[in-house]
Amino acid sequence: MHNYTIAELVKGLQSKQFSSVELTQHFLSRISQFNDQYNAVITVTADQALQAAQLADQRLAMGSAPALCGVPLLHKDIFCTKGVRTSCGSKMLDNFIPPYNATVVENFEQAGVVMLGKTNMDEFAMGSSNETSFYGPVKNPWATDCVPGGSSGGSAAAVAGRLAPGATATDTGGSIRQPAALCGISGLKPTYGRVSRWGMIAFASSLDQAGPMARTAEDCALLLNCMASFDDKDSTCVDRDVPDYSASLNKTVKGLRIGVPKEYFSEGLHPGTEAAVKKALADLEAQGAELVEISLPNSDLSVPAYYVIAPAEASANLSRFDGVKYGYRCENPKDLQDMYCRTRSEGFGEEVQRRILIGTYCLSAGYYDAYYGKAQQVRKLIEQDFVNAFKDVDLIVGPTCPSPAFKFGSKGDDPVAMYLEDIYTIATNLAGLPGMSVPCGMVEGKPVGLQIIGNYFDEARMLNLAHQFQQVTDWHTQAPEGIS
Ligand code: GLN
Repeated sequence: MHNYTIAELVKGLQSKQFSSVELTQHFLSRISQFNDQYNAVITVTADQALQAAQLADQRLAMGSAPALCGVPLLHKDIFCTKGVRTSCGSKMLDNFIPPYNATVVENFEQAGVVMLGKTNMDEFAMGSSNETSFYGPVKNPWATDCVPGGSSGGSAAAVAGRLAPGATATDTGGSIRQPAALCGISGLKPTYGRVSRWGMIAFASSLDQAGPMARTAEDCALLLNCMASFDDKDSTCVDRDVPDYSASLNKTVKGLRIGVPKEYFSEGLHPGTEAAVKKALADLEAQGAELVEISLPNSDLSVPAYYVIAPAEASANLSRFDGVKYGYRCENPKDLQDMYCRTRSEGFGEEVQRRILIGTYCLSAGYYDAYYGKAQQVRKLIEQDFVNAFKDVDLIVGPTCPSPAFKFGSKGDDPVAMYLEDIYTIATNLAGLPGMSVPCGMVEGKPVGLQIIGNYFDEARMLNLAHQFQQVTDWHTQAPEGIS
């Protein structure tokens, strides 16, 4: 059952080939058997899942259940889940039990989706390797000595390791697409404002966006149908109809104009990754798409601009964790100052503290214009590059990340090397555009991701191209060794 796609599970549930309880038991037993190898799941909600599955089976029996009713999923531990610990990968929130559900979680719950548990992640979603989690690193199912990517590495490894058929994730600078690429699955970051951020623990609010991870583009469409909604509890959520993302998957890609940015094939791109991406582009051309070379001239400024804007917003967002209201509090503080200071030094890991320091510095009165103001101007230029490009093309395609999964510790003492992991993904967050990653090859036994970037709210077209690509390739069907 764990090799079925979500689309196949939906059919199986609706035709009573198996029940949601059976399916849920199957995935729960896979988690208890294999999670030790991956450390992808940090909270398992077995009793709650079985109860939800029973309810789902009742709804299915009545015949009018929503599409995803009875399908089990995992949620990234950044989404608040009522009554279930939501740690955000941090010691700071190790004891935090939210009294409400995030809108994303609520949408799935209403649809009868069964939550199996919560996935491991980089602390406060800061990282590209899952090495910053308080709960220890997640291992890549394709090579357990290598990172799964981050920050949604737990979700990606769980889907690749068949511990769940799909999972939720979030992407501030690449955290859905990069781990999807490194773990050989499909993942989509929607347009900023497409999915509600309410109840999703904030990292950098102007960049954060939630999206689905699954093995196929078809499954991502099914999940996005449920995740995307207007929500007046998030003032940046856009009030716009949610199309049926599954409806246009089978359209032909003939005549589609695909922009290939020359800046995405520069120095630093692994030759094996480059070859896999070029082969994928040739496959798309063979399907009738037209490849057009384009330029995104300010691409090299995206990482520097992001590493001012994201830490600036993080430093403000994370100021709420002060030991007073909820979360970790240090022991025996001598006074209020000591309590703040030790709570934050003990509760946050090194990378989070680094970002708070950088962000606070960039926002300080003397440096605001030089750093934060400048970065915002650069952000505008990057956005304009895309606006110009989309005058001539329908979609943009290139690599998701510069190289396949790397070994644990190999970028540990060099934060800048780690930051460059997101060199091809960050620009879309700065511009607010949607992007996705689909598997397109293997290098040294490890998966390579193809990135598809769309115009604003053009998720349906991205999913259409990704699905058509998956009709003529089989990278998305491959499983890591040992999974049968
Ligand atoms: N890797 C990037 C960072 O460390 C992006 C993380 C994310 O998208 N949440 O900030």
